[in-house]
Amino acid sequence: MNRYYMSFNGALAIVVCSFVVSKNNTTQAQNTALHSLTIRTAPGVTYSAANADTTFAISSMDTLRDDGSADWVCDHSFSRDSNVSNFTNPSGWDCATINFDNEMTACKGREGFVKVVSAINICGGQGPLPGSSIIGCASNDTQSNTIVVVKSAMESGPRGPLVNHEFGHTTGLGHRTNNPRQIMNDTIDASSNKLSWDIECPALRWDYQDPNGPLMRGAGGTPVAPDDASDTEADEGPVTIEQLARRTIVDSTPYYLADRYSQKDADTLVRLLGDPSYADNKPSIVGFLAIISDGRESHASPLIELSKGKGADPVTNAAVLGLGFMASRGNKTALDALLTRADSSDEDLADVSILGLGLSGKPEAAAKLRQLRQTRSALVARAIDEEVLGYHARVAASGLRSLYTK
Ligand SMILES: [Zn+2]
Repeated sequence: MNRYYMSFNGALAIVVCSFVVSKNNTTQAQNTALHSLTIRTAPGVTYSAANADTTFAISSMDTLRDDGSADWVCDHSFSRDSNVSNFTNPSGWDCATINFDNEMTACKGREGFVKVVSAINICGGQGPLPGSSIIGCASNDTQSNTIVVVKSAMESGPRGPLVNHEFGHTTGLGHRTNNPRQIMNDTIDASSNKLSWDIECPALRWDYQDPNGPLMRGAGGTPVAPDDASDTEADEGPVTIEQLARRTIVDSTPYYLADRYSQKDADTLVRLLGDPSYADNKPSIVGFLAIISDGRESHASPLIELSKGKGADPVTNAAVLGLGFMASRGNKTALDALLTRADSSDEDLADVSILGLGLSGKPEAAAKLRQLRQTRSALVARAIDEEVLGYHARVAASGLRSLYTK
């Protein structure tokens, strides 16, 4: 029995013990890599310990199961190291609904490895990156000791892949875009559980071999080759628009989808917004529609209707951000709706409308943002100055695509 512990800022420990799993009739000796994590919630957000345990169990089983070709049976496991409680409130920001990069940075700095919040509308770290209703956020580097996740996404839907994906970022993993079943694809569903033997699995297990030490966290060393490393990373190719509509955007804005799908596909997404069997997929469908549409009225109209909801609601959030996409492509009705929503007494709705105005890149939006700087709180005014007017200028100069491509 080989067993050792490694601590990371007191919040994370790893335990490795002997274990044997088999795959494709090949016995592969592997230790269980156990990550014991601290879970904290934003003030005002409740998340049950029992639910956390179920979600962690699903995450662990997802990677241990053999999901066919291009999947490595990866024996790593999450557990909870203590009771679930609130993290302390950072000055000014509530962290329940995260709308600004400044807010995300402040909230990430609080205690706990897994931080559970109500909604995330922006995930910084790569410059301004307003999402289209996203369910998680983590810095893509091995110095990061935290992931931020949305409560509703931790309770149902593809929650196993969500935890594995976000934890994967903290080991240095980036996104994949061509294998919808890979854990690091930027859109996921419950079947997004595949890992390669040489990249994702050793990263999740902290199993890279350091030339100067035993094992290290994150890419940079040499992956420890298992006995049977025959599975290769297959490109499973794009999915149909109906399949895409069933997927969930994780933590970024997959703008490249605009080149993969047509305006006819966008018409299909509008139809699916009214299909009750797709009710749970609405936030992501709105996000996909925003990315793919050229801004025509028949695509903007349903978003305007959906933007009339409450600000903390994921569908409303996605619709308001989608209006920013539509406005950037010249839709005046969408811009007018954003200008109205920005004055809402619902602060969450007003905040996400500020993001939408920034995405539009339009002069009327910049004028409104400067006006709001005078009337909103000092924190929001600072975010408008430091973040929103910055990407507004980038969109005005180079188009929305420039925000989402390197
Ligand atoms: Zn991601």
